Amino acid sequence: MSQPTSETKPRPEVLIVGAGIAGLTLAILLEQINIPYQIFERAEEVKPLGSAMSFTGSLFPALEQLGIYEELKQISKAYTSVEFCNACLKKMGNFSAEENYIASGYENLVFSRPRFHEILLKRVPEHKISFKKKVLRIEEKEGKVHIHCSDDTSYNGDILVGADGTYSEVRQNMYKLMDGKRALPKEDLEDFMVNYTTIVGVATPSNPE
Ligand SMILES: Cc1cc2nc3c(=O)[nH]c(=O)nc-3n(C[C@H](O)[C@H](O)[C@H](O)COP(=O)(O)OP(=O)(O)OC[C@H]3O[C@@H](n4cnc5c(N)ncnc54)[C@H](O)[C@@H]3O)c2cc1C
Repeated sequence: MSQPTSETKPRPEVLIVGAGIAGLTLAILLEQINIPYQIFERAEEVKPLGSAMSFTGSLFPALEQLGIYEELKQISKAYTSVEFCNACLKKMGNFSAEENYIASGYENLVFSRPRFHEILLKRVPEHKISFKKKVLRIEEKEGKVHIHCSDDTSYNGDILVGADGTYSEVRQNMYKLMDGKRALPKEDLEDFMVNYTTIVGVATPSNPE
């Protein structure tokens, strides 16, 4: 009997929850290797927020593989050092990015986060993103993974990817499922150690010129 080839083998259906940077990046990769997928996004449309974002050396080979490195360079500025200033533009500290360049051969880039999001978004066919789909619950049934959304719709596939950000509903659901099966690794049952403090604030904007 002949073995199934990569052409005839059934391809797994991938469900991606979240059309942020992670979800769109995965979609572009799946698009390139012709694996069926659908993105489920809770928002009505993708509205990328934020201001500047920066990538350093180790990430660029992945962006080359995605075919977006050259376009990203066009919307970016390369930098070799960063200075931190207070609201009066008095220098508080700095770091050099030279070493990254020497180690990786790629310049560090800084760019607008919304524009990077646009570069990703335009590579994903519109019909492969379902908006207004807030995933609330997941379950495994009859060899499939099922997602249940807040508008009472459900979908199923073979692989579920939680790309739904920091407060990931998918991750929390998976945690409950695994806890129910007593399948959580020991480390996940221990208290989470936080040995840093985060301070969030907004400075009075300075004129970038
Ligand atoms: C202003 C700003 C600047 C940043 N600068 C940098 C930087 O310089 N360098 C760097 O490496 N990182 C930076 N980051 C962090 C980086 O942007 C995040 O790490 C990245 O966006 C995470 O991507 P993500 O796709 O995992 O999640 P997100 O971008 O949070 O996307 C998650 C998506 O999932 C959707 N979603 C959530 N819950 C559900 C649900 N239940 N059902 C369906 N959809 C759902 C959300 O609506 C969202 O679209 C910055 C972030 C911000 C905000």
